[in-house]
Amino acid sequence: MPAKIIDGKALAAKLRGAMAVEAKTLTEKGVRPGLAVVLVGEDPASQIYVRNKTKALAEAGFACFDHHLAAETSEETLLGLVRDLNRDQAVDGILVQLPLPKHIDSKRVLLSIDPAKDVDGFHPENLGRLLIGEPRFTACTPYGIMKLIEEAGTPIRGATAVVVGRSNIVGKPVAVLLTNADATVTICHSKTRDLPAVIGTADILVAAIGRAEMIRGAWLKPGATVIDVGTNRLPSGKLVGDVEFAAAVERVGAITPVPGGVGPMTITMLLANTLDSARRRVRS
Ligand code: NAP
Repeated sequence: MPAKIIDGKALAAKLRGAMAVEAKTLTEKGVRPGLAVVLVGEDPASQIYVRNKTKALAEAGFACFDHHLAAETSEETLLGLVRDLNRDQAVDGILVQLPLPKHIDSKRVLLSIDPAKDVDGFHPENLGRLLIGEPRFTACTPYGIMKLIEEAGTPIRGATAVVVGRSNIVGKPVAVLLTNADATVTICHSKTRDLPAVIGTADILVAAIGRAEMIRGAWLKPGATVIDVGTNRLPSGKLVGDVEFAAAVERVGAITPVPGGVGPMTITMLLANTLDSARRRVRS
């Protein structure tokens, strides 16, 4: 039987609909959830990401404070803006779109964001809190991945999970989340010996590599749940994941498509984190 396709687009729409209702209620109480989006320069991919984020914010009734700065903006000016946003009561979350121009130290800028407004979840304080099982903001892609596994109905407790990729924004935090949810987790990377054998043990596989269909369908454990984070553009222009989808779909129990799986969930969880921050503003 072919796999269940885990529809990230549909799940994202459902979650965003519920968040729009709550945002309206909060706004009526005088607390409109608000996200500041800072873009420096003219990187075309970043411009598309920012456009998608601002559109999603508007659709959910959130306030969006757009700051588009020229490519030659100095690091001090950018740090000054972040300082102002840290103090601004109407701003629940701050997102600085990466990559920043080369003359700006991205680490210094990300560290300057108030961790209580770091809705991207990239600040070391938030990553540390995740590690000790006391999360404040969970990085958006890993957070979305957990929601997709939940949507598939896959039990996590006691499951064998394999995460391929160890980046700070996807692989490592998702491995921590799976561990905190009682899976037994193996993290693989470019130096892993016999990747197919490790992948073959996975009840849950998260592929976050960035190599078109590198994981072959035949490597997968029959019935597994596969979350494909990879977004790879083929020379033909087609977008594919890290997993050989056509073969995988005949073998596994559930799988996310690319596009339409993890992608729509990432922006959704950015809204979720911003809403969470606004809820804290109501309580304070
Ligand atoms: P990254 O920082 O480049 O990390 C890639 C990881 O893959 C590294 O840990 C690397 O190992 C590992 N790797 C590379 N070649 C490998 C191989 N042959 N065998 C096993 N592991 C290998 O990438 P990332 O930022 O985590 O992103 C991964 C993918 O997810 C990309 O396609 C990206 O576009 C996509 N992504 C999608 C979303 C979304 O919202 N849809 C969000 C974020 C990322 P080493 O550490 O040993 O180098």
